[in-house]
Amino acid sequence: MLPAPDTDAIDEAAALLVGAQHAVALTGAGISKESGIPTFRGKDGLWTVRGEPPLNQFQEFHRDPKAWWVRRLEQRANPDEFALSLSASEPNDAHYALAELESIGVLRHVITQNVDNLHRRAGQQSITEIHGNMRWMRCTDCHTRWPEDKVDVNLEDLPPRCPEPGCSGIVKGDGVMFGEPIPPDALERCYAEAAMADVFLLVGTSAVVYPAAMFPQLAHQRGASLIEIDPEPTALSELARVALRGPAGEMLPLLLRAVRERIERR
Ligand SMILES: [Zn+2]
Repeated sequence: MLPAPDTDAIDEAAALLVGAQHAVALTGAGISKESGIPTFRGKDGLWTVRGEPPLNQFQEFHRDPKAWWVRRLEQRANPDEFALSLSASEPNDAHYALAELESIGVLRHVITQNVDNLHRRAGQQSITEIHGNMRWMRCTDCHTRWPEDKVDVNLEDLPPRCPEPGCSGIVKGDGVMFGEPIPPDALERCYAEAAMADVFLLVGTSAVVYPAAMFPQLAHQRGASLIEIDPEPTALSELARVALRGPAGEMLPLLLRAVRERIERR
């Protein structure tokens, strides 16, 4: 049996959030694991099922974008274990609690390392998907992004071309490939959010993958209070002002409730 949640820690975290001018969250695989999204290397993981992508994946895409598109369409027609678990997954209580914290004006932005679209499906509005979104497309020239159903894919004429006026760039999946730089607009937004943050929530991220791990550190250097929500300590635990030890799907709803109570008492 898990120990009872630490109500003092939840209350301290709630006080920080309610007092914040600009609270930002960084989320990682831990939040999606609770929705049944397999991790890359775990059983049924993307790389376990499909094999690890080559380190020059992005260069390969540019060499032959049509081949990438043909493979993608084949995978769509015959979904493997990973694709099936992805399409069956639903946002969990942690995703909904973050969206609710945004809608009551407490949380300003979410930076996520996840590509599974679950934050958007839960209603999150202000979000940077630093590794892209598996349900979106992006132009390799003008960097415009769209949900995948907004791009016409003509099987006779692959790869699809950018529909924006004056651009006919090649369209690729929005997920950031091996060998591909993080899209510059996403990176800039994350730096700006980290610079503005006075409270920074870390949710289900081991905080070891760069550049994402850099943003809470930058915020901390500028005086932001870090709140960590994770069943296990992470690389950034020693910087955290408060740690909520438990699954995000359990801790975030408790935190949301404590925040609401504080707002009502004001
Ligand atoms: Zn374009």
